[in-house]
Amino acid sequence: MIENLSAAADRVKNLAGSPTVSIMDKARRLKAAGMPVVDLSGGDPDFPTAPHVVEAAMAALKSGFTHYTPSAGIPELLQAIAHKLATENGAKFDPKSEIIVFPGAKQALYIATQTLLNPGDEVLLFDPSWVSYAPCVQLAGGLPVYVKMDLQTSLSELKTRLEEAITPRTRLMIINSPNNPSGQVWTQEQVELVAEVAQQANLLVLSDEIYETLVYDGRKAVSIGGLPGMAGRTMIINGLSKSHAMTGWRLGYIAAPAELARQMLKIHQHSTTCAASFVQKAAVAALEGPRDYTDYMVGRYRLRRDKLVSQLNSIPGIKCELPQGAFYAFPNIAGTGLADLDFTDRLLEAEAVAVTPGVAFGPAGKGYVRLSFANADEILDEGAERIRRFVSNL
Ligand code: PMP
Ligand code: GLU
Repeated sequence: MIENLSAAADRVKNLAGSPTVSIMDKARRLKAAGMPVVDLSGGDPDFPTAPHVVEAAMAALKSGFTHYTPSAGIPELLQAIAHKLATENGAKFDPKSEIIVFPGAKQALYIATQTLLNPGDEVLLFDPSWVSYAPCVQLAGGLPVYVKMDLQTSLSELKTRLEEAITPRTRLMIINSPNNPSGQVWTQEQVELVAEVAQQANLLVLSDEIYETLVYDGRKAVSIGGLPGMAGRTMIINGLSKSHAMTGWRLGYIAAPAELARQMLKIHQHSTTCAASFVQKAAVAALEGPRDYTDYMVGRYRLRRDKLVSQLNSIPGIKCELPQGAFYAFPNIAGTGLADLDFTDRLLEAEAVAVTPGVAFGPAGKGYVRLSFANADEILDEGAERIRRFVSNL
């Protein structure tokens, strides 16, 4: 009897947990137990949140701004987001009816997939892609369909792969440039091609732009929401976790066509009510404040990227391309003779370095591992040194 009572619903039992979050939690536990862990697993900026943002939250708390807010978000934050989307991304959304603020971009993804998908609906994901897309699609009863996409993929290959993947059940594409885990930043032509295919096949596009500010070497992340013909079929997810080093504040948002936003809001009302009130005030300060802190962090990430990638490439059996954006190195470790899951398990056991196995990001991640360089320079140096020792002892 008791056994039956503790059985979870099938759709949850069959769901894998988040590999990134589980590995971060494990690294924390091992550290707390006294193990000298170098944790390169999760994508969490090591920089503090900017002081003017912290002050805005404190001022809100002190002034008693500690109650429920409108479910979609406070008007000044919705306005600031609409302004950002219009001026930086060329995407027009009505702050009164087309933007919803959530505790984290992840929550926006969850609610969007719950809102959009009927059982059996197919969703195109680009492979490799972030760990939570496929599970969110599956929890909503949808079927993830992977389309391989890397730096070597030509425009015509991309077109062919998309055409082959699309069926009458395809409803949605989830795109993410800069990409977690590969760091690939899509070119204007690639984004335009995907927009064209979405229009031809009448698909919705969910564009996860959480790493948009983290681009290197003069690149620019192109927002599909700003392209002709994409209004009405594009949803943009973004947040402050990465751009403003605000992961723990939990603040993300979605911009979506009014009718879809209205449907999403119902789930938000029943599940969370609203994002934290004083965090929303801090988010206004972050969005309306100067960009210099974000630019400073990007400059530091670029230096770390260059050093880490060259350290990795000097280890026999490891090959790493220079990521174009985000803050992850995604080296191929197949030359070490280990599968990526063995590599990550044994590296943690032997050298106490936590990294994420590539398979967590889809079939194309096989043979790769992901290292986050949102970590202090000395931690990255220590991590690279331990990886070198680990590989040379294999
Ligand atoms: N999208 C991508 C691609 C991510 O890597 C993350 C990582 N946290 C998120 C969305 C979610 O961010 P958050 O919930 O912290 O806003
Ligand atoms: N997005 C980060 C990562 O990929 C944080 C963990 C998570 O939310 O998945 O590591």
